[in-house]
Amino acid sequence: MNKLNEILIHNKSFVENKKYEEFKATKYPGKKMVIFSCMDTRLTELLPRALNLKNGDAKIIKNAGGVITHPFGSIMRSILVAIYELEAEEIFVIGHHGCGMSSLNTDKTIQKMIDKGISKDTMTTLEYAGINLKKWLHGFDCVNDSVRESVMAIKNHPLIHKKVSVHGLIIDPETGELEVVVDGYN
Ligand SMILES: [Zn+2]
Repeated sequence: MNKLNEILIHNKSFVENKKYEEFKATKYPGKKMVIFSCMDTRLTELLPRALNLKNGDAKIIKNAGGVITHPFGSIMRSILVAIYELEAEEIFVIGHHGCGMSSLNTDKTIQKMIDKGISKDTMTTLEYAGINLKKWLHGFDCVNDSVRESVMAIKNHPLIHKKVSVHGLIIDPETGELEVVVDGYN
């Protein structure tokens, strides 16, 4: 059975058996907070459990590495919407040890694209268009620095007001243990 069918069969019984009832929540984050973290699969359930977050408690935004790549990109837009439309008051940037984006070999990634049939012409066209693929794909070298940079990018954003607290943490993807890098109350 393919994955789509597997999901649809499960979904039918999930809804029929009212399994959704324990997840009832509103669109407003109950704890008035935003988590911005990495898409790492080890964190999917571990992170909310380790922070005592239930469905509806927080807005959770994720990307590869938990990195803000552009001050007017989709991550910042999501954070701003969470603050101004959904009553969020605190932001928690949570990086993690052993992140794939800290060791990404961008030359190899580009080679994999070429191996899968993306033409070198496409790469050249992108280069001419001013897109530096290597730079764009690059994550970070040190998770500590990366978390600090993301915190600063949010804190110093021209559209973030002064009462928003922005914290920086690192989570252990095995144990869920947190380490505070930036205490946003100070
Ligand atoms: Zn990661």
